[in-house]
Amino acid sequence: MTTPVYENFINGHFLKNQTGDTFAVKNPATDEVIYHVEIADEFIQNAAIESAKQGFAAWSAMTPIERSRILLKAVAILRERNDELAKVEVLDTGKPWQEAECVDVETGADVIEYFAGLAPAQVGQQQMVGNDFYYTRKEPLGICAGIGAWNYPLQIACWKSGPALAAGNAVIFKPSEETPLGAIKLAEIFIEAGVPAGVFNVVQGAAEVGQWLTANPNIEKVSFTGEVGTGKKVMASAAGSLKDVTMELGGKSPLLVFDDADVSQAVSAAMLGNFYTQGEICTNCTRIYVHKNVYQQFIDELKTRTEQNIIAGDPMDPEVNLGALISKKHQELVLGYIDKGIQEGATLLTGGKALSPASAPNGYFVEPTVFVDCKDDMTIVKEEIFGPVMSVLVFDDEDDVIQRANDTHLGLAAGVFTKDIQLAHRVIHQLQAGICWINSYGNSPAEMPVGGYKQSGIGRENGIETLDHYTQTKSIYVGMSNIESPF
Ligand code: NDP
Repeated sequence: MTTPVYENFINGHFLKNQTGDTFAVKNPATDEVIYHVEIADEFIQNAAIESAKQGFAAWSAMTPIERSRILLKAVAILRERNDELAKVEVLDTGKPWQEAECVDVETGADVIEYFAGLAPAQVGQQQMVGNDFYYTRKEPLGICAGIGAWNYPLQIACWKSGPALAAGNAVIFKPSEETPLGAIKLAEIFIEAGVPAGVFNVVQGAAEVGQWLTANPNIEKVSFTGEVGTGKKVMASAAGSLKDVTMELGGKSPLLVFDDADVSQAVSAAMLGNFYTQGEICTNCTRIYVHKNVYQQFIDELKTRTEQNIIAGDPMDPEVNLGALISKKHQELVLGYIDKGIQEGATLLTGGKALSPASAPNGYFVEPTVFVDCKDDMTIVKEEIFGPVMSVLVFDDEDDVIQRANDTHLGLAAGVFTKDIQLAHRVIHQLQAGICWINSYGNSPAEMPVGGYKQSGIGRENGIETLDHYTQTKSIYVGMSNIESPF
């Protein structure tokens, strides 16, 4: 059976490349090639820039309310096609249908809707300076590049295009080579909604295509989601033409469970923050610090629920709540970390092996894994694993646990479980992380800015402030009297 071949999406339509080079995309749950995608060669790259220039001219000339109306149509189409799009995400990523069906499209649509609503409300300022005055305009940047990771492909494309388009920019988006289809679907939806051709373009390929985007002088900004190491390369390359950057990078986030916490709720949060999307979430609380007084109760319940309530298998089965990891290579990487955890002296509470469920025997599954007896200097406690691997540590002193939680170069997220509101806020205020939760974990509504401290990122996505990251301020001074000049 021949599989479909997707071309790059440029200037409102699919465009064939000249080299004929393609790459294959596999379903992580079956190890089968499901389609091929053409790589953006030089011809496509040049066409993408020309297309985005024209798209920008048309789109930025429209009023914010006209843009808003069109983006809201795209939101409606995204919601209408929820199931079709969710299926694309399941087949590309290996994540469970029960997640994609209610999260991936929905949270993407929410963000476009949010920024579509905000766009007409963006205003400049004016101020009198004697008899003269100045005013400011919030102008779009021009062509923005978006580079996405593979864990939430459609959501990432929406989170980057929502504010960029609402502010009047054009976008060239490169999805991860592992998950290229969601962005194409979004591009088609934008056209159907009435976004002018050239405003949202999708170029396909691996690192080389990303590198071309980050180096291209016609592009004003790069919004990147991916690993810390790649983020550094992207930023260094973007510096060559002094591009603005937004960096959404990795994490190794702590969750602190105090001895007055509702332990069952804390276990729920720990499981959500380690096993949802089979652990492939940047904000995951992979370091769980539990107060010694509730430690035994916590790990007993955690073990029981992990062993009884997790169902791995064909991700399209609505009962399945643990999907396949993105690739064989990534599965091996995660298993390698588990081996390292054992070698370095951590104790496996549960899990630890590859899985071959009957309904998806060839998928890249890893058992939900919990390590106890962990020490702060173990590799599994220090490095981002990006799989279903949780490390549990014990503490008995507030200041000490804050210091341990902050002892990392990463600072994406953090959480606290306690019923003492003063303790909760006191601790959260001292944690070095950009996204924090109290008695909750993982919720990320469109209204809430998200982004990292330290090496977990630069800039924010979502929330009002993000619109500012996609505009530049022009100040205009108006003279109201004759110029005084010595010449
Ligand atoms: P990578 O850094 O490997 O890749 C991210 C994107 O960058 C991909 O599209 C990739 O292309 C591209 N790329 C790779 N090299 C370069 C380069 N030199 N220049 C420009 N682009 C390049 O990340 P993953 O896809 O493996 O995603 C997992 C990582 O993403 C984790 O660290 C996770 O924490 C982080 N992440 C952060 C989020 C946040 O909001 N903070 C959210 C989601 C994930 P290709 O893959 O095609 O090679």
